[in-house]
Amino acid sequence: MNQNWTIHDSLEHYLIGRWGQPYFSINNKGNLICQPKLNSTSTIDIKELIDDLKKRGIKPPLLIRFNDILNAQVKSLYQCFQKCIKDYKYNATYRSVMPIKVNQQRHVVEQLVEHGQHFNLGLEAGSKPELLVAMALLKKDNGLLICNGYKDEDYIETALHAERLGIKTILVLDRFAELPMVIAVAKRLGIKPRIGLRAKLAARGKGRWVESSGDRSKFGLSIREITQTVEILKAEGMVDCLNLLHFHIGSQITTIRSIKNAMREAAHLYCGLRSIGCTALDHIDVGGGLAVDYDGSQTNFHSSMNYSMQEYANDVVSVMQDICDEIGEPHPHIISESGRALVAHHAVLIFDVLGVNELGVKDEALIIKPTDDDHTVLHSMYEAYLNVSAKNAQECFNDAVTAKEESVALFSHGVIDIETRAQIDELFWATCKKILKTTQGQNYVPEDLNKLTKMLSDTYYCNFSVFQSIPDAWAVGHLFPIMPIHRLNEAPTQEAILADLTCDSDGKIDQFIDLRDVKRTLRLHKPQEGESYYLGAFLVGAYQETLGDLHNLFGDTNAIHVSVGEGDRYLLENVVVGDTVSEVLSYVEYDRLDLVRRVRDSAELAVRRGEISFEQSAELMKRYEEGLLGYTYLV
Ligand code: PLP
Repeated sequence: MNQNWTIHDSLEHYLIGRWGQPYFSINNKGNLICQPKLNSTSTIDIKELIDDLKKRGIKPPLLIRFNDILNAQVKSLYQCFQKCIKDYKYNATYRSVMPIKVNQQRHVVEQLVEHGQHFNLGLEAGSKPELLVAMALLKKDNGLLICNGYKDEDYIETALHAERLGIKTILVLDRFAELPMVIAVAKRLGIKPRIGLRAKLAARGKGRWVESSGDRSKFGLSIREITQTVEILKAEGMVDCLNLLHFHIGSQITTIRSIKNAMREAAHLYCGLRSIGCTALDHIDVGGGLAVDYDGSQTNFHSSMNYSMQEYANDVVSVMQDICDEIGEPHPHIISESGRALVAHHAVLIFDVLGVNELGVKDEALIIKPTDDDHTVLHSMYEAYLNVSAKNAQECFNDAVTAKEESVALFSHGVIDIETRAQIDELFWATCKKILKTTQGQNYVPEDLNKLTKMLSDTYYCNFSVFQSIPDAWAVGHLFPIMPIHRLNEAPTQEAILADLTCDSDGKIDQFIDLRDVKRTLRLHKPQEGESYYLGAFLVGAYQETLGDLHNLFGDTNAIHVSVGEGDRYLLENVVVGDTVSEVLSYVEYDRLDLVRRVRDSAELAVRRGEISFEQSAELMKRYEEGLLGYTYLV
């Protein structure tokens, strides 16, 4: 074991300075800390927080939300745009709207709206339920509401009523077919609508969500539909209702070049529309897409980004400014719909390790030399094990693989017994481990042997569901930083992959962040007898809860909202208790009382038949009812 390991080694190994800046670090106790407030040195020790919560009965898996991080991200984005607007002398304003779909949790949206007031934050709704939430939460006089998504007359009518509440509401036409509905409803209600157009740009994003743009994208109007819209609005005497041009080229745009290209096209479209008489058009809404550097590599890899928030703001503003100045049109007010960049950082999922599965023999001293009576295949495997050296590692590996294959065939034909087969299996893994140890650090390692780290990695069984808490890790192979939240002053010695609680072979995490590529294993500590070992998955605040599902009926985890208080004390603002078993069962139409009645009937029958005693029946019913009211995860 490396005795000289320090917290600096952990900072480097888990790349905390890369993805965690400026919020996460490690203290002298070796615990992960969060410094959630900009310009404040107050910190929260995450391990101590978990220990305190456990004493209060709030157990992992647990989602911690740092309210101050939400505030800080809103402020940072606003300040980046303010800076370049000032530096470049851009002649209009910037506002950001938070797309509710990115995190619809009430406490999150309320916190954003409350704090966002200081930074003119508005909301974006993409559906009727989101619209109704936004109408209730937005402040009346300065609220900005952007309405996207499929619309019917109900949606349009409700959005127009929002305008009557004093909320500036822009109905963005996502499809050409929405135009006649907007005109008809606005006329019927006698409300002048603020209309936006979502353009299908030819410029494409780069990354996983590239399908959001281009000619075949699901939403947006083609150039021809845009000019037809203008003609219709002119004919209706409503061209002064056209106030906003919108585009969205996808989420997590990894390269700044894609953003610049889209901005150029959109800026020309804006100027073009003004040149054909849309003089009330004075807003450009650049959609979402501002990425998050999940792996800290600052590259155009799908879980990263090759630009900073400031560069993003600079390019949006400067491209717009340059093209407007060149053509001679006024600078439009800029709106962005960044969701991921505002909320990803604020949430951390903490879960405990329930057990570890190691391959092969744990102690090499336990390996026994075969006797003359043993089958030759066991002798061959033992030879391979004994002979491993730096020079013949590949040869020994080949011999071991051959012996293993032979043993399987011999076992299937009844030639060797179960005990011999087990011995051979153990020796195989011991040989592989020996080869890995011998070749580690060598300049050249043959490809076959390079796979050994992954092959030999331990499986850490963890108390969470990938499908419920980080579904993108499964659905699109998205990488999230994952690391222990304590013992960071000790060297991690085990290469591991993580398996969740579901009975699904996809319910695992075997890809981890790396600066150059993707790591196939995560280095962790050996859990200690009688002590909990906690891991954290970071930057999970965007999309994950919303997309999470009830695979195997694992429900929402417990969640808490914390802020920093005086000094290094934390304030527990909200505790949202996770789903109980009966709650998740009710989502799939089971009724708790009906289930209890059925089990009670069966227990009564068993008592009547003399199969169980009264006391056993009472015990059974107590456990069953407690189970229904309990947490869906292991406690
Ligand atoms: N706006 C629209 C229209 C979207 O579809 C999305 C999500 O894909 C967003 C904004 C938010 O994008 P992001 O979270 O990448 O900022």
